[in-house]
Amino acid sequence: MAERINTDILVIGGSLAGMAAAITAKEADPETEVTVVEKYTAGYAGKANKGAGIMTMLGDAKPEDYVAYHTKYIGDYLNDQEAQLQYAENLNRGVELLDKWSGGKIDKKEDGSFKTLKWLAQVQGKDENGQFIFDEPDHFPWTLVAIDLDFMVNVRKYAQKAGIRFVDRTGVVDLLLAEGKISGAVAYNIDDGSQTVFQAKAVVLATGSQNYRIMPMWSPGRGEGLAAAFRAGAKFRNCEFGSFYNWISLQNFESSMGVEFALYNDKGENVGLAHTQGEHPDVDQNSLAEWYKQTVAGNGPMHYRQQENPLMPYLMTTLACDDYFHRPFADTFWGSLFFNAYSQQTSDEIVPGLIGEFSGLMVDKDMKTTLDGLFAAGDICYGGSAAAGAVPPPPGRVRGSGLAFAQNSGCIAGRSVSDYVKNAPVCTFDEGDVAKIDERFMKPIKQGGSVKVMDFLPKIHRVMQPLENSLYRKEERLLAALTEIEKLQAELETLKAESAHDLFGCNEIQSMLLCAKLFFTTSLHRKESRGWFLREDYPDHSKELTWYTATPTGEGTDFVVAPMKLPIDRYPNKEAE
Ligand SMILES: Cc1cc2nc3c(=O)[nH]c(=O)nc-3n(C[C@H](O)[C@H](O)[C@H](O)COP(=O)(O)OP(=O)(O)OC[C@H]3O[C@@H](n4cnc5c(N)ncnc54)[C@H](O)[C@@H]3O)c2cc1C
Repeated sequence: MAERINTDILVIGGSLAGMAAAITAKEADPETEVTVVEKYTAGYAGKANKGAGIMTMLGDAKPEDYVAYHTKYIGDYLNDQEAQLQYAENLNRGVELLDKWSGGKIDKKEDGSFKTLKWLAQVQGKDENGQFIFDEPDHFPWTLVAIDLDFMVNVRKYAQKAGIRFVDRTGVVDLLLAEGKISGAVAYNIDDGSQTVFQAKAVVLATGSQNYRIMPMWSPGRGEGLAAAFRAGAKFRNCEFGSFYNWISLQNFESSMGVEFALYNDKGENVGLAHTQGEHPDVDQNSLAEWYKQTVAGNGPMHYRQQENPLMPYLMTTLACDDYFHRPFADTFWGSLFFNAYSQQTSDEIVPGLIGEFSGLMVDKDMKTTLDGLFAAGDICYGGSAAAGAVPPPPGRVRGSGLAFAQNSGCIAGRSVSDYVKNAPVCTFDEGDVAKIDERFMKPIKQGGSVKVMDFLPKIHRVMQPLENSLYRKEERLLAALTEIEKLQAELETLKAESAHDLFGCNEIQSMLLCAKLFFTTSLHRKESRGWFLREDYPDHSKELTWYTATPTGEGTDFVVAPMKLPIDRYPNKEAE
């Protein structure tokens, strides 16, 4: 017999966005029952504690200046400037709240104020010794704080004290609808496969983005929440922006920042420097495309001369050094990672590695999805919120925005869902729907397939990873990639499962293929190059500023793509003619 859990609010995903939503909703009304269901163990799971622990803060900058800079140099006018202003206004408060929830894990000065770090300023040129000269570090209208990487354990303790219930090692596979509104979810224990059915007045989805399991540190993002929202009928937006790449050492598989300063082709020519001119707050998409152009021109393999990277001393003395930020756990982790990676490196060959970060679940400024009773927060809806514009989700372009957006959007979702449940009835779903979900999830055990999950996965990687498919795009390549993804969808019946672990693997594969289909299809619709979206066949901006939405038809993984005009007339920052 399946376990049944009734709750007012169900939060799916127990990393930063989910915790922020749960804590905010519980503190808004302590009488409300709030339950967090997490596939692994909340407090340890997710990406929030696997990163560098750098979080954006506004500091003394003005929210309007943040929006103006971001719109012009990062979002490329495709951002919802009102949503982004709300985000900028909340940044400082978000840091204060996270410090409180985590028991003071954000590093501070002796006087108790936050220790802040200005992000790297722009290169102005070189001095007589050939060293890069950077301009003043107050160039960017934001600052950064640093948090130690074990902070989520304390956040969980804080949430538990507030009376929030946790259900760990339980993965949600589908949402339940009743009378046209979201009314719960069906989940399975990841160890023994036992079923839990949640009944809730409202649900917050905070299950992170889709990372296709290519880069090891990004593996928590497997897109099952995105796929569950799609199957329930939720609308998506900006799906074509889910392809962030990092520079990766081919030898140690570690990522590097600032590679464009020291990117060489095999003829010994520096081909990256040209892409460091102008405003580049972070990884430059055109230098990644340059890697592809040089390689197809026969000038590869490509090399990264790390000793020439002017950012390297800076990174080593801030992110991985106790002298700057005092973060014992982060220092040990990053210190040994850098040490192991670079001390044993004998080859400088560099390649782009797909991180992905597909995050197209559409939400409005209140973090409401298009489905009644369904809210979202964090990486799952970073692109779908349109707050950031023509940019893939973190860490692309503004370091620290992943944690900041998760915290920020979680708080907004928590307030919205708390208001919503005050007047929401408990709706009883159809037991037949639970049975149908069970049938779908269990199918790989019964279908008699022979292909293991780990043998299927590389077939997806071969389509997603190539830069010429997922970043520097062209119609014929996009069509070929889409055909390949649809072929793989038809091969799902060959998957084999023998355990709960395998079943989740199969569910993840289905989710990856759905995200890939959304990504390639919407990429075909955007006939321009803008921000992180590059088309070899459409190198310029188009005149119209358009978002593209994808609405499920209810037939399998089919959807309809439609343009959605930006209300640019309402926004303060406009693209020059
Ligand atoms: C290596 C690395 C470095 C980074 N560095 C930084 C940095 O320095 N600064 C910064 O701001 N950002 C950084 N980021 C990004 C940042 O970690 C994310 O933006 C942030 O964690 C997003 O939080 P989230 O709660 O939305 O999603 P996640 O942290 O991805 O959490 C999603 C949670 O949902 C759970 N879940 C997934 N599916 C299900 C399911 N079906 N049922 C139940 N639970 C489910 C997952 O297990 C997970 O716990 C980094 C990320 C990585 C991987």
